[in-house]
Amino acid sequence: MGFVFGFLGACLGIVAGVAIIAWFIYMKVRRVIGKEEMKELVSAAKQAKDFEQQEYARPKSIGGITNLIEPEIIRDFGDFNKDLLFSKVERNLISIFSALENKTLSNIRNDKDLLYMTSTLEEQINDMRGTGRSVKYDDVKFHNHAIKAYNKSKGRATITVASTVEYYYDNNDKKINKTFFKDVKKQTRYTTKYVYVYDESAFDYNATTFSITCPNCGAALEFFGAGNCKYCGSYIEPINLKNWFIVSYKEDY
Ligand SMILES: [Zn+2]
Repeated sequence: MGFVFGFLGACLGIVAGVAIIAWFIYMKVRRVIGKEEMKELVSAAKQAKDFEQQEYARPKSIGGITNLIEPEIIRDFGDFNKDLLFSKVERNLISIFSALENKTLSNIRNDKDLLYMTSTLEEQINDMRGTGRSVKYDDVKFHNHAIKAYNKSKGRATITVASTVEYYYDNNDKKINKTFFKDVKKQTRYTTKYVYVYDESAFDYNATTFSITCPNCGAALEFFGAGNCKYCGSYIEPINLKNWFIVSYKEDY
């Protein structure tokens, strides 16, 4: 019994000690910068926090010029359908979120849609595994999509898409204030890029930031179509590149 009281007493003592130190620091700072300024400082800090929380939950907008660009794409690709591309954006981002959440490489390697993203995502996941970082995306809902840019060069066409999305986001970063952000959906924006290789002979491997990797050993391949990996020798099935494939994604919060 005596031990319990002694232990509780010690705990109380520590709490009181910390409170006294905090109060002492508060008074000291207040003396240095003045009482009114102290009040302002406290309210400014509160306002900044309120603003950060409002911004987190504020639906984002996207400035796309879909109507201007769409006819230009259709001129080059007669069967282009923006709604199909937008649903692909949603599908691909959800696959990416789930790969990051589960820190798994196998799903990415088998996902033909993520052909050009394999090495980037593998790097990201290995980095997360190495640093023990984890992320979680719950109840993902997309709002709007818009085409932001379209260009053609060196045998490939690129479309840039902006998308607004909301989800409950969580990670194991201790610096983030969890009490507010856990119960509020994050409203954010993503920019994705899609590439269509229409002329393989004009394609410049050195001028791209993405690569196709061997599904067996993960080495970058320097050819399209059928062939053998020059690192592990495994046979590579020909890939139909006459399609839009995601090459990058970026959160634009
Ligand atoms: Zn290989």
